Amino acid sequence: MNKTVYIGFGSNLKGSKNRIKDQISSALEVISASFKIEIISVSSLYESEPIGFEDQPKFINAVVKARTYLCPFGLLKFLQNIERDHEREREINWGPRTLDLDILMYENVKIETRNLSIPHPRMFERAFVMFPLREIDPELSIFNNQNIGEILENLSNQSIFKTTDHSWWENIDGSKLVDKVQP
Ligand code: ADP
Ligand code: MG
Repeated sequence: MNKTVYIGFGSNLKGSKNRIKDQISSALEVISASFKIEIISVSSLYESEPIGFEDQPKFINAVVKARTYLCPFGLLKFLQNIERDHEREREINWGPRTLDLDILMYENVKIETRNLSIPHPRMFERAFVMFPLREIDPELSIFNNQNIGEILENLSNQSIFKTTDHSWWENIDGSKLVDKVQP
């Protein structure tokens, strides 16, 4: 477990906030149960208000710091299998469900291929990535020498808020969480 990685979680499931939360919690549960990966810290859930029509799904996001021995492509495959399993649930259960799992960073590795770009190319323009990232690692140094605070200043027009619900990782085996983010 010698590689440090940051994984972005997202869901814009249509329906109640609880169901979106379940989707994200369930993904974290599956990841933490795997012997291939060890969870270090978990951010709060962040909610982005839908813009435009009222009945648009809300977006819920979080960031998780972890350690793994998987290589970047192995990790991508691992996460894509989990995304796929959650998509499959949708057909059996009710209505639309989506789950987005992104490799945000993998050590200081830079990769640009057709299927995988690290750091995630759109993370710096997404408040729903940068806020939770700052929460779990405020001192994180980012490649282009910008600090997270500077990046966030440019994203202040994006409407997002941190939920006060700290129970989303409740079902995760406590021994797997090395360094829980405190409320
Ligand atoms: P986004 O995550 O930007 O909203 P998608 O999840 O729809 O977009 O994009 C999925 C595709 O992105 C996958 O086919 C995957 O191969 C590719 N991809 C490229 N870089 C990454 C990365 N760092 N993490 C996850 N997927 C990535
Ligand atoms: Mg994605």
